Amino acid sequence: MGTRVHVEFWLDDADSRGPALLERCMNEMWRIDHAFSPMRDDSELSRLNRDAGRDWVEVSDELMDLLQRSRAASERSGGAFDITFASVGRYYDYRQGRLPTPEEKKAVAAINYRFVELDGVKRQARFADPRVYVDLGGIAKGWAVDRVIGILQAARVRTASVSAGGDSRILGDRLGQPWTVGVRDPRKADGVAVLLPLVDTAVSTSGDYERFFEKDGVRYHHILDPKTGDSARGAMSVTIIGPDATLTDSLSTTVFVLGADKGLALIDTLPGIDAIVITPAGELRYSRSLEPLSGHRESSTRE
Ligand code: ADP
Ligand code: MG
Repeated sequence: MGTRVHVEFWLDDADSRGPALLERCMNEMWRIDHAFSPMRDDSELSRLNRDAGRDWVEVSDELMDLLQRSRAASERSGGAFDITFASVGRYYDYRQGRLPTPEEKKAVAAINYRFVELDGVKRQARFADPRVYVDLGGIAKGWAVDRVIGILQAARVRTASVSAGGDSRILGDRLGQPWTVGVRDPRKADGVAVLLPLVDTAVSTSGDYERFFEKDGVRYHHILDPKTGDSARGAMSVTIIGPDATLTDSLSTTVFVLGADKGLALIDTLPGIDAIVITPAGELRYSRSLEPLSGHRESSTRE
């Protein structure tokens, strides 16, 4: 996944399952990374990208599930979340500082989630345009976190924290205290913008500082606006709090693309979901049910 994975859980002293359980969790992360990496030639996702532009391709239950959830995320967001962003996104290289050429940029016409046709009964997928290229990077880390949490829940673990990059989920509280999850200051390497005390929830952050390069004073980063194929400029970071990480992961990318006004308006329609947006000007904005937090923040900065 190109990112750091963290799994932490607590067992009774007499419970000796720890090492084996930890290994199962890490293996699950590896498995998902392998299956849905667009970079590995032998991944299931690469097979889809190679063949689905020509004909229907059979997919696993798990890939079908992810494709359907991605489609739901696209519909919910009016197309701001769109796994076909990669039709152009594949031509960026953030390590090398490479932008798509004007010719490659023309594939923006192939960015449209409706071009990924799904047959849930036959478990098949097809691309309506041969230039379509799919990348699940906006949802797969959350999915992996939820799967690992599922393993821990099945093992009756009640206290745990699992994260993959900016996507985390916590089970229970940490021995009577809430877990604290920090929202990074988008422009200071070790700075923290907000600390959230949380119990039994998922949290995802999308930031423009994760993978980026600068060229002629412009920051190019890894979250693309599907309308333009260019980096989204509506936020510096977006944090979503909600019940599961697959949902919070896709929503953090979504709100990043939509920007603070439209993004928070969407979040305010979704029960049980909250958001914190750091705007391009560095201002903190909160969804309606978190607004009391903004008062705290002000008093502590005046100290
Ligand atoms: P992070 O990778 O930093 O956790 P995100 O959860 O926002 O951040 O995921 C960013 C990834 O989402 C990108 O690396 C890319 O794979 C994918 N992505 C970029 N733009 C979009 C988009 N508009 N819709 C869906 N996925 C996207
Ligand atoms: Mg995300």
